Amino acid sequence: MAWWFKMVLWQRVLLALVLGVIVGLAFRTFGGTYMVDGVTKYAGADFVTTWIKPFGDAFVRLIKMLVVPLVFTTLVTGVTSMGHPSKLGSIGGRAFLLYIATTMVAVSIGLFFGTLFKPGAGIDFTDVVPNVLAGEAPGFVQILLNIIPTNPLNALSSGNMLSIIFFALLLGVAILMVGKKADPIKSLFDSFAEIIFKITHWVMEVAPFGVFALITWVTAAKGVETFSAVLVLALALYLGCLTHIALVYGGLIKLVLRLPLIRFFRGILDAQVVAYSTSTSAGTLPVTITCVQDNLGVKPVIAGSVLPLGATINMDGTSLYLGLLALFAANAFGIDLTFTDYAMIALTATLASIGTASIPSASLFMLAIVLPIIGVTPEQTALLVGFILPFDRPLDMMRTFTNVTGDAAVATSVAKWEGELDEDVYRAVSTI
Ligand code: ASP
Repeated sequence: MAWWFKMVLWQRVLLALVLGVIVGLAFRTFGGTYMVDGVTKYAGADFVTTWIKPFGDAFVRLIKMLVVPLVFTTLVTGVTSMGHPSKLGSIGGRAFLLYIATTMVAVSIGLFFGTLFKPGAGIDFTDVVPNVLAGEAPGFVQILLNIIPTNPLNALSSGNMLSIIFFALLLGVAILMVGKKADPIKSLFDSFAEIIFKITHWVMEVAPFGVFALITWVTAAKGVETFSAVLVLALALYLGCLTHIALVYGGLIKLVLRLPLIRFFRGILDAQVVAYSTSTSAGTLPVTITCVQDNLGVKPVIAGSVLPLGATINMDGTSLYLGLLALFAANAFGIDLTFTDYAMIALTATLASIGTASIPSASLFMLAIVLPIIGVTPEQTALLVGFILPFDRPLDMMRTFTNVTGDAAVATSVAKWEGELDEDVYRAVSTI
């Protein structure tokens, strides 16, 4: 077992990912098949779903368990450790602007690859069962009002991220303002944050097993055929996301911040792989927070505020995908797009990605907002969702990977600009 612990965590997680693909494919290929109502089923996939996937589900539950206590305590201690809350406004402002800017670039990249690859052209919808995913989008004013919790305990128990950030900031600032009398509470939060971090490190030790189980399951259940059914769309999405990561985040870290790029990607690899295997950026949050703090030297006040905000509103992979799907619909239903249509898609996809929940396949709910802009009817949207949904998982994995990478890149940038980045840690050799 010593060899296992000698490897740093990101190497173990990466190994788990590769092994998961191999084992999953082996189960699918050699596990045998049977027919139900004329549909081929894979016995190996059934086995994996029953016996291996639960380990992955247990891992997902473990990290989700930590989201609320970790975000809450990290943010309160982050604010109290600043000594003065004066910087909070500029941290929030910079993070917000960068989130919006990167998202708009992401949709544009999506539209570029969509125009190049023409996904959806010649798709036959005859056998597709329509699927309506009508998400009720709350109004803008209501979204803003909902940030203020009427009961902070409810916000904590329901995991309402923006309300938790709001209350934690108030609490942290108040602790600072009260001064000496609030010292016991300040120490209490410091201890609590340390304790939650300890648990997070334990949970991350099981990440390789969770990742292995989830990837084995996805590969055994979906196989490579999933990609072939939506090959052009998948190609455009994967290439688009990789281009966005390399150009936008790579450019930000290397050219704007002048920090070594490899250190950045190595530092967040655990979070990327966990995002890839779980398809939820909100669920990945504890891993993202730990990675940027421990490996990149981002201070808690930034990690605790910018990352939860990012997990809630910043989804570059998602917006890129929404742009692609709009072109997919236009090609499939023979809609001619003008330049104004492109601009409108970019705008609505950006806004819709802000409102997308950070959970698996959440993007598809947003099609009801984006597609009417170019004249797609609700029936056609239902048809499109019915067509995409069975193949969405491997696409969702890449979107979530991109979303989490974007959150980490923005957190690192804001930390650097605010003087809250410990560059000695950033440049040191990874310890986890
Ligand atoms: N699964 C994505 C996330 O959690 C959201 C989506 O694009 O469906 O970030």
